[in-house]
Amino acid sequence: MKTQSGFTLMTVAEFESWLASQRVTRGIRLVQLHHTWSPAYAQFNGSNHFTLQSNMKSYHLSIGYADIAQNLTIFPDGQVMTGRSLNTAPAGCVGANTNGICIENIGNFDVGGDTMTDAHKDAIVRVTAALLKKFGLSPESGVTYHAWWTEGGTSLGTYIAGRSCKTCPGTAFFGGNTRASYDKCLKPLLMAAMNGSYQEEEDDEVIEQKTVLVDGKEYTCECIEKDGHNFVKMRSLSQAGYDVVFDAARQLPAMTAPQCRAFVPDGDEAVQDAIDTLQETCGLEEQTIAYMRKYKYGDELVTKLAAAMK
Ligand SMILES: [Zn+2]
Repeated sequence: MKTQSGFTLMTVAEFESWLASQRVTRGIRLVQLHHTWSPAYAQFNGSNHFTLQSNMKSYHLSIGYADIAQNLTIFPDGQVMTGRSLNTAPAGCVGANTNGICIENIGNFDVGGDTMTDAHKDAIVRVTAALLKKFGLSPESGVTYHAWWTEGGTSLGTYIAGRSCKTCPGTAFFGGNTRASYDKCLKPLLMAAMNGSYQEEEDDEVIEQKTVLVDGKEYTCECIEKDGHNFVKMRSLSQAGYDVVFDAARQLPAMTAPQCRAFVPDGDEAVQDAIDTLQETCGLEEQTIAYMRKYKYGDELVTKLAAAMK
């Protein structure tokens, strides 16, 4: 738990006990779920929580808000940060603010945008469930999506393209931004979290940690083993500031997918050197790099990675 610039950063467990100690005097009837769209996952480097939050606050002040818009922010690594006081109505969603709590999720969860990490998913489920419990609300009527409202603050009850004010929290947020998607995908998880039967997403076992130097700063990347090969986790690379994203066209959620190993190229000498360096230093599989180069990321990333390893 760390406080800086008036914001407090917590793990979900810390948030749960922090919330229990909060005295909230205004009536709460709705938990709003949003995505920030910008900043997205690419702007999160694993350690810039406070910078992103302060930047959002500055932006919100610049457009005339009294404070940062949201009451809470949830980050891709599953950590939670306080925003404006829970005792102050947020500026999240016209029509749902007076009795609402606004949660902003860092990321772009429209189709083709960011792929939500398991840690982020778990945090959204647990934080929302904790708020519902705290304020005596149910997953049936106590949660709302920004997309279920018009610009003028009329409740539509679901996302209707052309009438909804926004797609927020994203057309791919927990299976979609409609009420039907919520009922099918997120609501059951909230119900499970509230009755204690929620199973967190299992992470692959980390067999090794590698230190990577990016712009003079050290990051720890997690290395996992799958099918006898070692891979650096995509989330890990992403948090180290690399431009690593989900390939929506190929539906590859991570660099551990079998397709990563399907192709070994004859690179030119410089690229081969970079690949060798990366393998030795970072534990990246040759085929993983080859995949990155051929299918998505281009020589630029290989060069950037290699430069970071020097
Ligand atoms: Zn929103």
